[in-house]
Amino acid sequence: MKSYEYGQHHLSEDWLYLPLLFVTHTSFQELAQGGKVIGGGPMMGRAVANLDAPVTKGTSGVLIMRGKEALRKRATACIKCAKCVAVCPMGLEPYLLSKMVYKGLAPQTEPERVTDCIECGSCAYVCPAHLPLLDRIRLGKAEVLKICRARNAK
Ligand code: SF4
Ligand code: SF4
Repeated sequence: MKSYEYGQHHLSEDWLYLPLLFVTHTSFQELAQGGKVIGGGPMMGRAVANLDAPVTKGTSGVLIMRGKEALRKRATACIKCAKCVAVCPMGLEPYLLSKMVYKGLAPQTEPERVTDCIECGSCAYVCPAHLPLLDRIRLGKAEVLKICRARNAK
C-alpha cells in the first residue's frame, strides 16, 4: 500500500482496516470547517464522506487538506482555451462533455466517448475557469454506463 498524508507523515501496512478517522487524526469538526480527507491521490482521489470507513488494500493513498487548501476556487465561464483538450490522454473534449452533462444531455455523451474517460483529473487541473470538469464527466459516464448495462441486459 502506497500511502501518504499531507505533511509528510507516511502510513504503513499497520494501518490496514483501521478507520480513517483514527489514521488521519482528523476530526469531524475539522471536516465541517472545510477540511477534506481524500481517498487516493490529489488528482484522481475522492473526498471521503465518512471517516469510519477503513483503510483497505485498495487504498492507494490518503491525502488530508486543511482549511483554505480544501476550498474550491469559484468556477467562471469557459473561455474556450482548449487546455482541457490538449491535456486529455484519451483525446476527449472535456469542455464539451462537461457542458452536455450540465445541460442535462448526459445520455448524448455516449457518441462523444464519455466512457473512455479514465478520470485522471488533468482537465480539471488545468482549467483556468476552475470548472468542475471531472465531476460532471463522472456523472455523464455513470449515466451512460447505466444505459449500456440496461441495453446489454435485453
Ligand atoms: S479526466 Fe477524463 S476527460 Fe479529463 S483529462 Fe482525464 S481522461 Fe480526459
Ligand atoms: S480548460 Fe476550461 S476554460 Fe479552457 S476550454 Fe476547457 S473547460 Fe473551457
